[in-house]
Amino acid sequence: MIVAVTNQKGGVGKTTTAVNVAAALAFSGCRVLLVDTDSQGHSSKSIVRDMEKLDKSLYDVMMNPGLKLASVTLASTVPGLDVAISRISMAKLEASLLGQIDGHFRLKDVLEPVREKYDFIFIDTPPTLGLITLNSLVAATHLLIPIQSSYLCLEGTDDLLETIEKVRRVANPGLQILGVLITLHDTRLNIARDVEERIQRVFGEKVFHTHISKSVKLEESPAYKESVFTYASGSVGALQYKKVAEEILERAKN
Ligand code: ADP
Ligand code: MG
Repeated sequence: MIVAVTNQKGGVGKTTTAVNVAAALAFSGCRVLLVDTDSQGHSSKSIVRDMEKLDKSLYDVMMNPGLKLASVTLASTVPGLDVAISRISMAKLEASLLGQIDGHFRLKDVLEPVREKYDFIFIDTPPTLGLITLNSLVAATHLLIPIQSSYLCLEGTDDLLETIEKVRRVANPGLQILGVLITLHDTRLNIARDVEERIQRVFGEKVFHTHISKSVKLEESPAYKESVFTYASGSVGALQYKKVAEEILERAKN
């Protein structure tokens, strides 16, 4: 299963979700690869200690068919979780692939040879609907959409759903929504319940039963290059992301 974690809004918890869901599945014994496609490299920096030992990154592999993904993949601080790292060079991808007829298929081609090696591949995407995200939607079998629990939570959802529909039509008919995850949830807020209902109305049973609360531990753990499971194993964030991983395993069976 190749899962793109996507939402063109920034700051909704894509990276936090990609890192900690991937980590939870790795801790439960799955072989997991996290592919960082964001030029900010946040997911790489969150759980990889020795990024400096590589001078290349995903950009180079996407631009040079001769380079293997393994050459930019490092072990993370989570046993069983590898990370294909991204750097600022990724910001050049859009311009570099301009006019290339296979521009949308580069990531799919790059992942094809490693598919069998992993039980789950997660793709962390940047906060745009540009070419990098399109590559991710074309490469993915499933989507995980984090939505921040806030008044403006559904703003932009139409554009995202339209893009998903377009990708299905043109390049990836089997693309499915694995689930919608409500993040940064604050049940003390009066609007929290209302937000939840509005998200349910659009996405129905795709919404994960588990919601991710606001939690300082989730914010802190990347500074120590750890997932929340070793940084704060008993925290609410750790428990909730573990539950999301269990829901994913359940959905993956069907
Ligand atoms: P995105 O990748 O969508 O831009 P991030 O995962 O980087 O979003 O999250 C944006 C910011 O919010 C980061 O500083 C992150 O540490 C913080 N954050 C994400 N999820 C939570 C949470 N559940 N509780 C507290 N802070 C969070
Ligand atoms: Mg991010």
